[in-house]
Amino acid sequence: MPAARVLIDGPSELVFDYAIPDGLPVVPGCRVRVPLRNKTSQGTVLDLVETPGDLGFALRPLHSLSDPDPLITPKLLEAGRWIADYYGCSIESVIRALLPEAVRTEDNSAKVRKTVILDKDPDPEVLAKITKRAPKQAAILAILAHSPDRKIALADLGEGASASVKSLVKQELVRLIEEEVRRDPEADGVEEILPDSPLPLNEEQEAALAVILELLQAPDGTPRQPILLHGVTGSGKTEVYLQAARRTLDLGKTVLVLVPEISLTPQTVRRFRSRFADIQDQVAVLHSNLSQGERFDEWHRIRKGKARIVIGARSAVFAPLPDLGLILVDEEHENSYKQDQIPRYHGRDVAVLRASLEGCPIILGSATPSLESYQNTLEGKYRLLRMLKRADGQSLPLIRVLDMRLESKKHKGGMAILSDRLRVALEQRVAKKEQSILFLNRRGFARSLQCPSCGHVCMCPHCSISLTYHREDERLMCHICGHQAVVPKKCPECRDPSIALQGFGTQKVEEVLAKVLPAAKIARIDADVMRKKNALRDLLNAFQARKIDVLVGTQMIAKGLHFPNVTLVGILNADIGLHVPDFRSGERTFQLMTQVAGRAGRGDLEGEVIVQTFTPHSPSIQFARHHDFDGFAEQELEFRRQFEFPPFAHCAMLTSRSTHERRAEFTLETLHRRLKEDCPPGISLGEPMPSPLVRSHGQFRFQLMLRSAKARPLTRHVQQVLQKTTLPEDVTVVFDMDAWSF
Ligand code: ADP
Ligand code: ZN
Repeated sequence: MPAARVLIDGPSELVFDYAIPDGLPVVPGCRVRVPLRNKTSQGTVLDLVETPGDLGFALRPLHSLSDPDPLITPKLLEAGRWIADYYGCSIESVIRALLPEAVRTEDNSAKVRKTVILDKDPDPEVLAKITKRAPKQAAILAILAHSPDRKIALADLGEGASASVKSLVKQELVRLIEEEVRRDPEADGVEEILPDSPLPLNEEQEAALAVILELLQAPDGTPRQPILLHGVTGSGKTEVYLQAARRTLDLGKTVLVLVPEISLTPQTVRRFRSRFADIQDQVAVLHSNLSQGERFDEWHRIRKGKARIVIGARSAVFAPLPDLGLILVDEEHENSYKQDQIPRYHGRDVAVLRASLEGCPIILGSATPSLESYQNTLEGKYRLLRMLKRADGQSLPLIRVLDMRLESKKHKGGMAILSDRLRVALEQRVAKKEQSILFLNRRGFARSLQCPSCGHVCMCPHCSISLTYHREDERLMCHICGHQAVVPKKCPECRDPSIALQGFGTQKVEEVLAKVLPAAKIARIDADVMRKKNALRDLLNAFQARKIDVLVGTQMIAKGLHFPNVTLVGILNADIGLHVPDFRSGERTFQLMTQVAGRAGRGDLEGEVIVQTFTPHSPSIQFARHHDFDGFAEQELEFRRQFEFPPFAHCAMLTSRSTHERRAEFTLETLHRRLKEDCPPGISLGEPMPSPLVRSHGQFRFQLMLRSAKARPLTRHVQQVLQKTTLPEDVTVVFDMDAWSF
């Protein structure tokens, strides 16, 4: 007799086996009601298991199914098992991602609205009587007579109306019905949707779409290679997505669109809404600020096949779309696809897995593909499609690289924020009523030292990444091998004594700008703005309406914005991205410059890009300047291969955290020792060391990097060691496979 292994809802990940009552069609993924102690709980069936005959006691039977169909489809459950295995997290944590809390909570279940309807006017005599005897009832009749469709929600009649309505129903003057209503996230009319129609495609777009359509129409069961669509900014990738999505819908299938972050890609979302304006109620946009009720309703609309296009950020990869026909991953290189909480999956990689399980095509699109995906095309695992011309016929903007070492000389050792060249360019734009965007590279916690006069950065001699500055004890450390160095008094290269931490924030930039451009309207987008609801949207709308001359922001606004009147884009500190102690720093700088350059000259006006840097000859900057992705990739891949970094190895991070510094450190050292014992071949262990931000939220953090050509053996080895180790109560250990920040 198989039993059902059930994960009980709630914070503690309890799993129990229950007997299945005769005839109850229980399969994995079902939601069930079960007895737990002396109460009834809900849970999710993880698996059907054979129970041994000699258990010695009888399993309690589960009560009932909460839903006639399994809420998690077999394919999604399979994807869930893969995630648990690959990322080394519990299946319970994955189930939580598959079935969001809003869906698991019964309180959120469909909302019912009571509506009062007036089918025909009452006889004048009856009405006269009511007016005299029950003025409240008469008032309700009057309201109904004047309402559109002669109906109104009971709730809208105000408190205390139900008794009167009840009486009216009894007299058969009105009807009261119960309707299930969708809690529509867009109900308060966020913005007007203007329908648009498909554009005639250019040759490159036509060729790309043809390949996608061929995959789309291939018979079921045909293996479909994932597609990497490398299209320069403005090449019209979105148009290709839109047309491919329409064809998929025409074939009776559904479409999943992943974007890095909904609030940062308002224009992409708007274009999907506009193009599918004719079937607006079939489009679901999964924002992070949906209410629980809205999320519940959207999830069930998707599951029932009522919403056939789903647009969302990484967690939307689990959207329960039936008959999935196409997955689009926009800006596939973005690091926001990596989830930084348990389960720490990568949304793009899970999307590729899901496409293969569902047997549908997947398109990963980017102007700056990740080296992981690009290498997959070189190895023949993915197919590469290219669109190298801008769809509007414009040429790619000219990028000027400014050497800030010269500017620092003028500032006598201080850090220059704005070069003369950029200042003049800004003044010209303000005078011509054209707009500018300035980007400030956001600083990570891991920071390196750079000499403002020669641009020298202190590097690890063994690992070829920059050394991280640790303020607590004034030293430099390598994040991978633990190499240490003292902070130099002078620049080792040019002997300048002013070697310094770089850094200024958006606020500082705004101050400087206000001084040099007194006539300009300047606005700033940063984390503070992002915290306020709709603040970002309002700011972008104001910018669109040309009420702002200069927009200052971090790289988070580099994605997908399209403003025809922007003719100048500046990057204030290209170096900070370049010299963070992370093997991806070169890649990130290349991506940022390329994406940023794509923001300039999107209309009829020609664009100019100015990049300020202390290391103008750095390859990432030079390749980006010449719009040379292939050149960049070739050189960068060589470096990755040589130093065994992704895509040639999987990089994982093991972190310990505790309010007790010593205990956090000691725990990681213990784990390190145990990991070293019978460590399988092919796994290389780094040294435990303090995290760049050693103290955060009152917790001390230590970290250890692990690398391996194959992911599974590494995950398994770490899991085994963790299982054997009893952690002190106040220490948490986090394992992050394919980690993104170091
Ligand atoms: P990407 O997504 O690759 O950055 P977009 O899809 O945003 O590029 O296209 C850039 C601009 O070119 C948009 O304004 C878009 O409307 C326009 N565009 C795209 N395809 C075509 C086409 N075939 N003909 C004319 N204009 C096009
Ligand atoms: Zn090192």
